[in-house]
Amino acid sequence: MAEIVLKRGRDRSVRMFHPWIFSGAVERASRDIPMGGIAKVLSHEGEMLGLGTWSPSSQISVRMVSFGEEEYFSVFDAVLSSIEARGQMPGLSGTNAMRLVNGEADSLPGVIVDRYADWAVCQFNTAGAERMKNEIVVALKDAIPGLKGIYERSDGDGRRYEGLEETARRLFGEEPPQFVEICEGSSKFLVDVREGHKTGFYLDQRDNRAIVSSLAQGRDVLNLFSYTGGFGVSAMAAGANSVCHVDLSREALSLARENTEINGQDESRVSFECQNAFEFLRKMRDSARSFDLIVLDPPKFASSKGSVMKASRGYKDINLLAMKLLRPGGILATFSCSGSYTPEMFSQTVSSAAHDAGRGFRVLKRLSQASDHPEGLFFPEGLYLKGLLLQSLQ
Ligand code: SAH
Repeated sequence: MAEIVLKRGRDRSVRMFHPWIFSGAVERASRDIPMGGIAKVLSHEGEMLGLGTWSPSSQISVRMVSFGEEEYFSVFDAVLSSIEARGQMPGLSGTNAMRLVNGEADSLPGVIVDRYADWAVCQFNTAGAERMKNEIVVALKDAIPGLKGIYERSDGDGRRYEGLEETARRLFGEEPPQFVEICEGSSKFLVDVREGHKTGFYLDQRDNRAIVSSLAQGRDVLNLFSYTGGFGVSAMAAGANSVCHVDLSREALSLARENTEINGQDESRVSFECQNAFEFLRKMRDSARSFDLIVLDPPKFASSKGSVMKASRGYKDINLLAMKLLRPGGILATFSCSGSYTPEMFSQTVSSAAHDAGRGFRVLKRLSQASDHPEGLFFPEGLYLKGLLLQSLQ
């Protein structure tokens, strides 16, 4: 079997079960390892540390799929065990849409598989993942009875760094329809698996939608960065008095409107604002509007460690503006999905916004990504979504 040998003293993180090996730590690799192929990873002294996939064009040259002396890795078994694990994850019983494979945390680096009713949507973000494609298709067909089709949406930024082209195509079965209907709790959602964000829907916010909607009864809700309605549709289903969805994307809002319709919600109590959320909040402030429950779920403001300062300003501004619109006793559910923005940084930014807004808050709950988006215990990079559920004291 082909081998990758690490430089002297550069084996520490692998011994700590971290799955990434950077190019600077690799001393040499056998010439015959194909792009994305699995090879043995050895310390400088020749000790076998595990198996990893080879990404020659990426700064992350190796991604570990297993640790220890075992020389065999089955993609098929890894997919099956990942799907089986979903059976033990809390919060998944009331839905037919969930993440079945979450990359590194499920021992399949770079592989994402999301299920939407009878369709599976995959992303293969690394050379190793790309090479596992056929085996993954076989495993999904085997593991999911009644699967109508598997669709590939490999359009993440990551592929570029791996020397791979973007691609979107059917891998098995029927073409998915324009919108796949899913259910989550008592709500239904239409998902655009071809053109929607990520693989079509923010499955990672499922638990938070349930928590927020449990507080929504009788409240006037502002759903900022609404995308296709998620939080607001769930809030209306749970008895909110009104919901205002705000998003810059016309397509997202048009689907939010359809989602309102298919759930039979009273459209006279739901509004859709195609606006920049920052400007919208300033207008609301100037016209002295207020709300009982505000959801603030912006896109990634920090895409790398270098943009953290700029992101801080964005998070602080938007939180400050939102806090000013909250009625006394009102609830703010505020999020950051930037991996490089740590939970500590986020708490600090939100505190600083509250300070400037002159408002006190109690933390009702610290929030995170849903359980089907696990982080690996040795892979803190897998934690990206964090949130605070706050209640205004005055
Ligand atoms: N809360 C959503 C996901 C939000 S994703 C859910 O649970 O489904 C972030 C959204 O912010 C995207 O829909 C994007 O179109 C929108 N967006 C990005 N920049 C914006 C801005 N400046 N003003 C308003 N919306 C914006």
